[in-house]
Amino acid sequence: MRVVDLIRRKRDSSELTSEEIQQLVAAYTRGDIPDYQMSAWLMAVVIRGMSRREIAALTEAMLHSGSVLDLSALPGKKVDKHSTGGVGDKTSLVVGPLVAAGGVKVPMISGRGLGHTGGTLDKLESIPGFNVNLSLAEFRRVLETCGCALIGQTAEIAPADKKIYALRDVTGTVESPALICASIMSKKLAEGIDALVLDVKTGSGAFMKNIEDAANLAGLLVETGKSMGKNVVALITDMNQPVGRTAGNAMEVAECIDLLNGRGPEDLLELCLDLAAWMFYLGERVKTVEAGKQLSVELITSGKAKEKFREIVIQQGGDASVIDDPSRLVRARQKLDVISPSSGFVAETQCEQLGMASVALGGGREKKEDKIDPAVGLEFHKRIGDAVQRGEPLCTLHYNASARLEDARHLAETAYRIEPEKPKNSSPLIHRVIGASRR
Ligand code: URA
Repeated sequence: MRVVDLIRRKRDSSELTSEEIQQLVAAYTRGDIPDYQMSAWLMAVVIRGMSRREIAALTEAMLHSGSVLDLSALPGKKVDKHSTGGVGDKTSLVVGPLVAAGGVKVPMISGRGLGHTGGTLDKLESIPGFNVNLSLAEFRRVLETCGCALIGQTAEIAPADKKIYALRDVTGTVESPALICASIMSKKLAEGIDALVLDVKTGSGAFMKNIEDAANLAGLLVETGKSMGKNVVALITDMNQPVGRTAGNAMEVAECIDLLNGRGPEDLLELCLDLAAWMFYLGERVKTVEAGKQLSVELITSGKAKEKFREIVIQQGGDASVIDDPSRLVRARQKLDVISPSSGFVAETQCEQLGMASVALGGGREKKEDKIDPAVGLEFHKRIGDAVQRGEPLCTLHYNASARLEDARHLAETAYRIEPEKPKNSSPLIHRVIGASRR
């Protein structure tokens, strides 16, 4: 195999054989192919796409780049959830512990920030000491002890995704249904789960900007999971504005703690309840999705979900005192309000720009080697449909270094469209559910 030939053939829209894809993934994972060649191949995939057969081969190759967990000795159903990525999308930090508190095991392998979107691992690492790099043996022990463990791809599990994910983040090669499907499903199928709930985002802050593209991606993900014997459901959810009140790693952890204390923003709460309800339903813990929602509310209200979060943090080496006192989380030293230029109503947000503003402040990576600043990010004061007065803050930038502050400010300022009239239609939070017979 000559890598340059595979790049050229994909560039020219040829279909690669399963063997070629398998060899390419294995060689890159071993370190035998340089980043520049893999980046070129990934870009060719983004532009030219892949056939269903190629996507299946890529998913298989990435899945078998490491171990596939067998959790059958652990009693009960194992169910996970995964999002295709959004701005302020922090639901994994809530639904993992919440569903584990309800008795369903949640073995969760997550990712870091990708493009303009945040990542669960970066958020968790803003809790001092929290270790997302557990060995497989430790992962299993935490899962057995408290019913949920949250880690990243490792040298042992989904190593191909670990490398390819980091490369896609900084090479503009995220927005491909084929690459997203192989990335998500290779991690998820390696986890030893019985069922999976997917949160497929659509809108200005998602990788899939329109519903039809999101539905196609959802169909691909569901089909791939089902072909491997998993029970998979995809919720297509709205990403035309940030989820909740913040985007930024430590700020999002604080917001999740608020939610677990019963003080979460409405949209974040609704999304978490829906995702958890489906996880309980697929995990056969409840007979209907509605009952799953009811159970989720009870687990938050009783404080059991928060206590489960505490257990996980302790088991994974984190400082659990932040749960009682979130002000112990790192905070940025400086703040800057982004002011509304006129009075009226928020009609629209270019949500991707808000995510990019967070990256510009240091909350995400622009090169693979970049260290992120967990303290920085955006705090949102206005949502679509809200009234706003001229001079009132739309959002606040929390920052430490001022090098990219002007870029971030410009991105945030131009992300909001203010109109004199209140917008007539608001998007539903859940657009569609794909792949399930609901009861
Ligand atoms: N989440 C992933 O794990 N991979 C992607 O490519 C996008 C979202």
